Amino acid sequence: MPRIGVFIETREGRIKPAMSGVITAARGPNHELYGLVLDGRAADYKAQLQAFGIHRIVDVASPTGPLGWNPDTWARAIALAMREFGLEALFGLTSAMGKEVLPRIAAILDAPLLMDCLRVDVEKRTAEKSQFSGKTTGVFKLNGAHCLYGMRPNVIEAIPAPTEAKIDAFQAPVTEGALIVEALRLEASRGVDLTEAEIIISGGRAMQNGDNFRILRECAEVLGASVGASRVAVDAGWVPHSMQVGQTGKTVSPKLYIACGISGSVQHFAGMKTSGVIVAINTDPKAVMMQHCDYGIAGDLFEVVPILTRQLKASLNHG
Ligand SMILES: Cc1cc2nc3c(=O)[nH]c(=O)nc-3n(C[C@H](O)[C@H](O)[C@H](O)COP(=O)(O)OP(=O)(O)OC[C@H]3O[C@@H](n4cnc5c(N)ncnc54)[C@H](O)[C@@H]3O)c2cc1C
Repeated sequence: MPRIGVFIETREGRIKPAMSGVITAARGPNHELYGLVLDGRAADYKAQLQAFGIHRIVDVASPTGPLGWNPDTWARAIALAMREFGLEALFGLTSAMGKEVLPRIAAILDAPLLMDCLRVDVEKRTAEKSQFSGKTTGVFKLNGAHCLYGMRPNVIEAIPAPTEAKIDAFQAPVTEGALIVEALRLEASRGVDLTEAEIIISGGRAMQNGDNFRILRECAEVLGASVGASRVAVDAGWVPHSMQVGQTGKTVSPKLYIACGISGSVQHFAGMKTSGVIVAINTDPKAVMMQHCDYGIAGDLFEVVPILTRQLKASLNHG
């Protein structure tokens, strides 16, 4: 029975929403699933983790208590837990946190790691990921005693598979090494990191300046969305690079992507083409984004977005 680990990412005492899809991806007919929790709240997550098929929850801590966020100590602790519990594979998220932790684990274990996976076959040890800015996909074969997979957030639909989970405490004898976390600073963009967001509303050149992004933030607040941007808006200095979607920005896969005043260049599409539903708001009905969206609204975003916000507020009962 293959023992498969899942690095459970949490934020402020909650499991990140994209994790349920990752657990779903890690499941298999005879897999024993281990959820590795590092924030000291394993018991709080039991109901949710067992609802998605986690059999054993490993409460990873140091001998003196929970491990504070530090990618170096977390990676060493997870690598030790993988050896202790005989985990042959580890799944995680291709998120800001996953990008810090998973490569470090791979280096410690000398294990192959594939990030931004769209699909994984644990038995065949293969994983599919997009190539050449999303123009094609490739299937990669991994060889090694342990295989590591970083899943693209939101690509796998989360399907419940209730089971009964048991909690194991694991004290990893790790101490802070060369890397010390002194402070955590929230990005100016706030909200959920774009790569994990379930809804994104993005603005392009048509936004004209940084102040105008306020109308997107207002809409995002009602929708519980994160705000993104095209490269033009970033290069112009209107918004930070952390908000850029595309080939040289972030790859996102939200359930809903609303592109406001974005033409639909190949480089922008490279970062958001796997979105569930794409809505385009553009004055030019012939814009590429309008041709390749699920719903296109031909109009001025400065008129359309405030109406959308008002209507959503009313229908979602926000005021
Ligand atoms: C190597 C390389 C990497 C790149 N990486 C990225 C990347 O990661 N991400 C990225 O986004 N780009 C990237 N680019 C840039 C990319 O080629 C495009 O230049 C860019 O995506 C265009 O941004 P845009 O759609 O905001 O602007 P434009 O192409 O100028 O489009 C603006 C759109 O707004 C519409 N519009 C105008 N006024 C309004 C209005 N009032 N209401 C509604 N619609 C309106 C117009 O009809 C038009 O369709 C890269 C380019 C290169 C060469």
